[in-house]
Amino acid sequence: MNLLEYEAKQLLRDAHVTVPQGVTVTLGEPTNVSSPAVLKSQVPIGGRGKLGGVRVVDDPSDAEMACAALFDLPIKGFLPRTVLIEEKLMIARELYLSIVIDRVSSEIIVIAHPDGGIEVENNTTEEFLRAVLTPDNTLIVGEQLAELYDIPEQTFALQDIVKNLYDCFVRQDMTLLEINPFVLTDDDRLVAGDCKVTLDTAAAFRHPEWSFEQRPTETNFVTLDKDGTVATIANGAGLAMATVDAVADYGMQPANFLDIGGGANAESVIQAFQRIMDYPNVKVVVINIFAGITRCDEVAKAIIHATSQFSSLPPLCIRLSGTNHEQAAELLAAEQISLLPTLEDCLVVAKEYAL
Ligand code: GDP
Ligand code: MN
Repeated sequence: MNLLEYEAKQLLRDAHVTVPQGVTVTLGEPTNVSSPAVLKSQVPIGGRGKLGGVRVVDDPSDAEMACAALFDLPIKGFLPRTVLIEEKLMIARELYLSIVIDRVSSEIIVIAHPDGGIEVENNTTEEFLRAVLTPDNTLIVGEQLAELYDIPEQTFALQDIVKNLYDCFVRQDMTLLEINPFVLTDDDRLVAGDCKVTLDTAAAFRHPEWSFEQRPTETNFVTLDKDGTVATIANGAGLAMATVDAVADYGMQPANFLDIGGGANAESVIQAFQRIMDYPNVKVVVINIFAGITRCDEVAKAIIHATSQFSSLPPLCIRLSGTNHEQAAELLAAEQISLLPTLEDCLVVAKEYAL
């Protein structure tokens, strides 16, 4: 489960890691801003800065409008239910720090880079520090970070932060904790400017205290093979399973199972694409919809809207039949998205891409 930023920051605050002072507001609530602030759309997705989801407000009287604008701005298909209003940090440097689980070695790993911020993905992999983190080496890792970031005067502070982050990572059953930017302020404080946390939901039974903002309903999505080459989207659990089986029977590796259910909307299709794009080897997406209650034209609209949100989706092999399939075909044709008549046709085409 991915937490929203303000939820993640609350966990950091509880662990004595410095985060900016902030309050959350929901739609219609007054902003009460009296000094320069940063308004941040609380959507379960990164890259908000580039998409207008982070607004720096230097004049407090602009806050109300900026906040209203954020509630109206979908970010990759997600509309926020909450906006986080924080003190504006005076940023001297933006660093990068994260903790993850290496599932192959079963170790907890620190990943760090001296250049954080919204362009972090442009850093080449060799430049990242990667260090195993254990309860016994937090002092050493703190020292390594001070050296990497070139802030030796912050060694003690970093050692504390690493220790506190490690404790909270383990205690809270996190699988990912990413602080980007990890901010060094003008007055030499180290502050978690942004925070992304993934919790291991299998550990929820240990955490009666976990209580987080209501999410849009989770789609029924299962990873089968993260190295798989064919992603699948279908409606209804039975058809979704049959689709996965058919892909495998055709000698291809299905990456996932996804039942988008009866209420396929743009948001659920965008979420599906988002997760599919996380797989490194997916070469083609097979979409198999048999619409009864679901309407093909709604699915077509969702596909069109979703494809417009992504610049580099793998090719789609789409079979849509049932309620309103003629309208769906027209809508898709207008966008140069072609349909295939049967699942078998989809698999034949998919195979050309997948192999
Ligand atoms: P993300 O784009 O979703 O990762 O959102 P972030 O919270 O990381 O914010 C994106 C960028 O906005 C940061 O890298 C900063 O450059 C800028 N930013 C965020 N908060 C502040 C702040 O308090 N002060 C200043 N000056 N810039 C900020
Ligand atoms: Mn960020």
